[in-house]
Amino acid sequence: MVSKKNSYKFGTLAIHGGQKPDPATGAVMPPIYQTSTYAQKEFGAHQAYEYSRTANPTRSALENSLAALEGGAGAACFGSGMAAIDALIKLLEPGDELISTNDLYGGTYRLFNTIFAKYGIVFKFLPIGNLAQLEEAITPKTKMIWVETPTNPMLNVIDVRAVSAIAKKANALLVVDNTFATPYLQQPIQLGADLVMHSATKYLGGHSDVVLGAVVAKTEELAEKIHFIQNASGAICGPMDSFLALRGIKTLHVRMNHHCKNGEAIAHFLQNHPKVGDVYWPGFKTHPNHEIANSQMSGFGGMLSFNLKNGGLDQVKTIISHLNVFTLAESLGGVESLVGHPATMTHASIPKNVREKTGIVDSLIRLSVGIEDQEDLIFDLEQALEKI
Ligand SMILES: *Cc1c(COP(=O)(O)O)cnc(C)c1O
Repeated sequence: MVSKKNSYKFGTLAIHGGQKPDPATGAVMPPIYQTSTYAQKEFGAHQAYEYSRTANPTRSALENSLAALEGGAGAACFGSGMAAIDALIKLLEPGDELISTNDLYGGTYRLFNTIFAKYGIVFKFLPIGNLAQLEEAITPKTKMIWVETPTNPMLNVIDVRAVSAIAKKANALLVVDNTFATPYLQQPIQLGADLVMHSATKYLGGHSDVVLGAVVAKTEELAEKIHFIQNASGAICGPMDSFLALRGIKTLHVRMNHHCKNGEAIAHFLQNHPKVGDVYWPGFKTHPNHEIANSQMSGFGGMLSFNLKNGGLDQVKTIISHLNVFTLAESLGGVESLVGHPATMTHASIPKNVREKTGIVDSLIRLSVGIEDQEDLIFDLEQALEKI
C-alpha cells in the first residue's frame, strides 16, 4: 500500500512500508519463503525470483520496509551488522582512504584494522566532532567517511549535516551507522548521508532473538552496487531471520518511545546519585553535543553510560553482580534491560591506551535501558549501587 516516498507517518510506514499482503494467499504477514530456488515459468523466463542468494521474497519485504523507513532508494540485508559493514567497505579499492570516528563500535574497528587494512585500504580514526581536523585529514584518496552517531559507548553525537557537507566537497561517500538511533529517532539520508548501516540485531529486531544487518542506500545507483556485492559475496540473512526482523520493526515506534522515557528517567536518577561520576546521555542540556542531538534526533534513545566517582573494576563487578533486572550481556536494543562493561566486553579488542583516551575507563558501565517498568529499573540500580 505504501510507496517508498515518506508520504505516510512513521508508525504507518513501520507497519506497512514496502509490504503488501502475499499475492498467492493474501497472508497479511509476508510468509517465510524457506526456499533456495524458484521454478522458472518457461525456458529463460523466471518469475522475479531465481535464487535466494540473489533475492528472496521475505528478505525483499524486509529490505523494502527499511528503505521506506530510512527514506532510501533501496536496501540490502545481511547475516549480521558486521556483514553489512563488510559489504560497504567492498565499495572501496586498494589505496582508497576511509576516515572514521575514533569512538567506534569495537567490531567495526577490528574489521577495518585487522581485515581490510590487509587489502590496502587506509583507515584514519579521528574525533570527527572536530570538523576542522576532519577537513584537514581529507586527501584526494579519501573515498568514504564513516560516522557512528550517537557513538558506542560514549554517546557522542556527530553533526551529520556538517560532515555531509564536507564529504560532498571531497567527493567521498558518507556512511552513517544508525544502529543506536534507528530511523525513528534519526534519518541520516535526510541529513545528507549516502548510505545508512544498521545492526538490526539491536533496536530494529528489538527482541534479542536475531542477528541481522542492513544497508540502506540513498540512490538507485548505490543500491544496485550494494545488491551486486550482496549477491557476489553472499553474506545474506535467511528468510526466518528476515521475518523476525520485520516483525520487530512493526513495533519500533512504540518501543522507541518507551526506551526514550525510561532512558531519560534513569539518566536523571544516575546524575543525582552520590556514587556516580559522569553520566553520558545526549538529552542533558550540559551534554557537549546536546544542541546537535536536538537538531537531528527526535529523541535520545535508551542507551547511556556512566562511570563511578571512586573505584574501578572491583566496584563494577560488585554492582553488576547485584543487579537483578538488568542482565549482564553483550548487545543492546532489546525489550529487556542489559548492562555491559565496555572495557572488558564490547571494546576489549581496542588497546587500553586507545580506549581510555575516548573515555572508556575501567569504571565505565553501559546500560541498554529496556521497556520494563521504570520504578523497577531504578530500584534495581539503586540497590546495586548501595553495595559499593
Ligand atoms: C552491534 C553493532 C554492530 C555490529 O552488528 P552485529 O549485528 O553484531 O554484527 C555495528 N555497529 C554498532 C553500533 C553495533 O552496536
